Amino acid sequence: MKKTKTIKTIKVDISKCNGCRACEVICSSFHATPKYSSNNPERSRIRVTREPLRDVYVPVYAGEYTVAECAGRDKYIIDGKEYDECAFCRASCPSRDLFKEPDSGLPLKCDMCEGEDEPLCVKWCHADALIYEEREVAVDTAEELEGEVEVGLESLINRHGIEKVADIVAQISKDSKR
Ligand code: SF4
Ligand code: SF4
Repeated sequence: MKKTKTIKTIKVDISKCNGCRACEVICSSFHATPKYSSNNPERSRIRVTREPLRDVYVPVYAGEYTVAECAGRDKYIIDGKEYDECAFCRASCPSRDLFKEPDSGLPLKCDMCEGEDEPLCVKWCHADALIYEEREVAVDTAEELEGEVEVGLESLINRHGIEKVADIVAQISKDSKR
């Protein structure tokens, strides 16, 4: 069966970013408890690498948590300008402090400002470096379910080991046949 799903995209035009960090301020403030009670860029789900002397400004969104850092690293040179290792990576990863809640150390991930009509970092970026787009795509519900189960199982296996997960699945399957 097919259904439609909204894909939300934020295009980042790094040539327009001036490093003002308004995006970090509003993101951390929106996610404060209670909402808007404080702001701390270290709690922001978007972080901006800002190096005025090298004319480097790179806004990056917090993505997935990863338990292990990559063995290989990437480094980009764009229009003759060299960016730091992992400069465009979105992972909350053990190799760096980025995208971790400073008090608890828990990973942070962009949620596209759930409940808002438009991401707040986009609204607050007066340099137009962040551009929000939405599109509808048709998805196969069976494929989507398979994908969700795979992601869920993978995370359980990472946490508890494959044998423990396999034992529990076998037990559930036995119980359901009774
Ligand atoms: S879309 Fe919302 S949650 Fe994501 S980085 Fe921007 S302000 Fe933060
Ligand atoms: S608000 Fe826009 S210009 Fe300012 S740091 Fe963020 S992305 Fe860059």
